[in-house]
Amino acid sequence: MQLKSGQQTDPTDCNYLVWISFSGLGNRILTLASAFLYALLTNRVLLVDRGVDIADLFCEPFPEVSWLLPTDFPITAQFSSFNQKSDLSYGNMLKKNPTQTDVLPFLYLHLVHDYDDQDKLFFCDQEQDFIKKVPWLIMKTDNYFIPSLFLIPSFEQELRNLFPEKATVFHFLGRYLFHPTNQVWGLVARYYRAYLSKADEKIGIQIRVFDTGVGPFQHVLDQIIACTLKENLLPGINPEEHIISPPGKQNTKAVLMTSLNSGYFEKVRDMYWEHPTVTGEFIGVYQPSHEGYQQTEKQMHNVKAWAEMYLLSLTDKLVTSSWSTFGYVAQGLGGLKPWILYKPENQTAPNPPCRRAMSMEPCFHAPPFYDCKKKTGVDTGALVPHVRHCEDMSWGLKLV
Ligand code: GDP
Repeated sequence: MQLKSGQQTDPTDCNYLVWISFSGLGNRILTLASAFLYALLTNRVLLVDRGVDIADLFCEPFPEVSWLLPTDFPITAQFSSFNQKSDLSYGNMLKKNPTQTDVLPFLYLHLVHDYDDQDKLFFCDQEQDFIKKVPWLIMKTDNYFIPSLFLIPSFEQELRNLFPEKATVFHFLGRYLFHPTNQVWGLVARYYRAYLSKADEKIGIQIRVFDTGVGPFQHVLDQIIACTLKENLLPGINPEEHIISPPGKQNTKAVLMTSLNSGYFEKVRDMYWEHPTVTGEFIGVYQPSHEGYQQTEKQMHNVKAWAEMYLLSLTDKLVTSSWSTFGYVAQGLGGLKPWILYKPENQTAPNPPCRRAMSMEPCFHAPPFYDCKKKTGVDTGALVPHVRHCEDMSWGLKLV
């Protein structure tokens, strides 16, 4: 009724944050966790836009109640048209006429990677003071923006109470909120039992290639092999011998690879089939799907993507690709500090090929660099010891 009236309503006992389903599945899992924490910090009820597939992917996290937006919510049809230019966005409102804010039925928070300096004022305490008074907030984002919440002074104490260990934020939020539906769980459980559970050690390798052109690329394969050998995650092979059997029990390692492309997996699998390892270990290499390209609107595609993120989280050691939220979800749920494959430049494998992450936290890819008090630019990655620049993106921010 409040929204249909089209009028600004007075603050009520119940204030809401509506999360819009937007972007790839990894992004959505990170943004939903971010929105949940923001709602918690600001005493709002979080409501979840079901998009095309949210209900197929996740169980309701809270018993007896639903976090899903009612199907007759009056402005759902407008969600897809909200963008950086929207008149009702907070940033544009600030630009046009800041005094007009008290006649709005709701506020649209545009926190997508293309947001501008005004939109980014969201991360300032002064603006939070105003936003607090608006009963309905509608948020669209494709970013894990939690690291910047840690830089807002009024949230500091509550965040310290909630997360004494700062590098566990997504780990706890993720495991609390995201429960696979039976369909997804079936995929996870069957795959795990059939291919992974009996191995002495499970290694996950998540390959996400952002280059244009169809893979597989030799330089990416070279990088995967260089990283896993150098970091002692997998043993080398002996191309001279047919059989190597050292005394004692020979371990088996199961390697779970995920990629849109099957080429990397086939090469690694063949390498360990055609040659013995120098240690005598047996290496099984498995990849659940190779979907070819991102098909965000397809139901089974996202079901598989979610199952694969979850399976990666069940491994003992994890290798991930730079910039990929798919990998961030896996590492966070698994409580794993991954080895991150550096982003290749000019079609060449970087040297060193990978490095160990500082923490299991995801990276905020588009953080603000603004000192709200001094009203100047500032390096937000150098203000406090627990918010640093990311390993895989020099301008990103992550909790450590
Ligand atoms: P990001 O683009 O790597 O940050 O991750 P997102 O999950 O946000 O978007 C990529 C999307 O591409 C995924 O949601 C999947 O739909 C698809 N995708 C990418 N890599 C894989 C993969 O290894 N397996 C599957 N099944 N899908 C993938």
